[in-house]
Amino acid sequence: MANETGLIVQQSLDALLQDTDFLTHLKGLDREQAFRSLGAILSTPNHIHKSYLRIVMDSGNVVRVPAFRIQHNDTLGPYKGGIRFHETVNEDEVTNLATLMTLKNALHEVPFGGAKGGIIINPRDYSVRELYMICKKYVQYFSDVLGPDKDIPAPDMGSGEREMDWMMAEFKNIHPGEPYRGSFTGKSVVNGGSLGRREATGKGVYFTLRYTLYDFMKHQSQWLAGEKTQVNPFLQTVIGHTDRPLKLAVQGFGNVGSVAALEAYQCKLLQNKVVAVSDRNHTLYNEDGLDIPALVDYTANHGGDLPLSKDQLDAAGIKAELLDREAVLTLDVDVLILAALEDQIHADNAHAVKARIIVEGANAPVTGDADRILGEQGVVIIPDILANAGGVIVSYFEWLQGRETQFYTEDEVFKQLVDKMQHTMESLLPAYFGGVHSLRTHCYNHAVMKLSATLYRLGKLY
Ligand code: NAD
Repeated sequence: MANETGLIVQQSLDALLQDTDFLTHLKGLDREQAFRSLGAILSTPNHIHKSYLRIVMDSGNVVRVPAFRIQHNDTLGPYKGGIRFHETVNEDEVTNLATLMTLKNALHEVPFGGAKGGIIINPRDYSVRELYMICKKYVQYFSDVLGPDKDIPAPDMGSGEREMDWMMAEFKNIHPGEPYRGSFTGKSVVNGGSLGRREATGKGVYFTLRYTLYDFMKHQSQWLAGEKTQVNPFLQTVIGHTDRPLKLAVQGFGNVGSVAALEAYQCKLLQNKVVAVSDRNHTLYNEDGLDIPALVDYTANHGGDLPLSKDQLDAAGIKAELLDREAVLTLDVDVLILAALEDQIHADNAHAVKARIIVEGANAPVTGDADRILGEQGVVIIPDILANAGGVIVSYFEWLQGRETQFYTEDEVFKQLVDKMQHTMESLLPAYFGGVHSLRTHCYNHAVMKLSATLYRLGKLY
């Protein structure tokens, strides 16, 4: 996925350059020069911080763990983004993810910039004490560039609230007497974390689907009946569908996938049937619909994994067939929610995808080539920067609550989350349904426009 985000940003800039209604004061050579500056600013990160953390292992051996923090852009506010603990994490991947964070925050008007961190380890290979030392050292090595008004990390793959609590404690040690609650988000609730943060991304993912299919369509039915719209015929049938439930498949049954699947299962507005879910081991399939609450209970008590065998399914009273891990991607369903990893749909499997709608719960799960193939097939993709922003939006609420030392109830958090996502969708969907571009293009254009206008007003485009 390296550089794919940069490419789409450049395409948005090329389109905006031709749009005479945008930055109307800028004309001729000045305009071209300003857009060249925008391309340079948005295609490269502001800072790449790298270090080798010196860790004393339980055995007494000293190892050096490669770690970095990439700060892409802070035009709209302090840098913000998770720290990934994974053995394959690398600079290109983290730069791309940091760029996506800049765009996601711009799209949803969250007053943060974009950043991402990486620590090249498999956390399963380290003891709790070793992981604690890695977290402390990460903060020690990068403490000058982190802070509530500079750069606010959060959990990502391989890290969670435990690591954020440790990191915030170390930040407080290093900066005595300074505000520290807003230095990390995704903390435990007892340490100033927000209620609802764990569910926020999955809930947001399902909300974007429901809003596109139901709320928007229902409220705009008169307008949609007009001549202007290019609405995918599948979507039009969905609003009036009474004959059969929507069939959904969900790749990944962790924090994001399990919550999105449960939201779909419990949704009262759309008739849904979640027929397949998958994890790192395999796919579970039941054409009559899976018992999602039972699977959520099962994973909570079995280290996060779905049942591994027919015996385990029977013992848990869950009816499902076991299919291979990749089967979830090409099943005959209406909606496919991707909530596992990057690069899952690519040029080699895109033609086999049968879903008419894909929702990107993970970051960049569809490659650029696959995006083009699916677009030609009329598949609607609700892109990552729109669909999976629930986590960073509630992180923003956590940061605000830490500053105000006033805490919201879970209902307040979810209401504000939905209001913010709905506001974004209201500003995108009419142009999307009335136009010819993909929803991804609309999202990127919207985000790049916001960043460009701000940079122009700040006098940075010379
Ligand atoms: P998680 O670790 O809780 O769950 C990941 C799930 O994916 C697990 O069920 C795991 O078994 C499964 N999985 C791993 N490898 C797989 C494979 N090859 N095929 C199928 N399934 C596989 O992670 P999460 O927090 O749910 O995040 C999922 C994705 O969403 C990640 O890419 C993450 O970066 C992205 N994301 C997460 C958040 C958040 O708030 N958690 C926010 C934005 C984006």
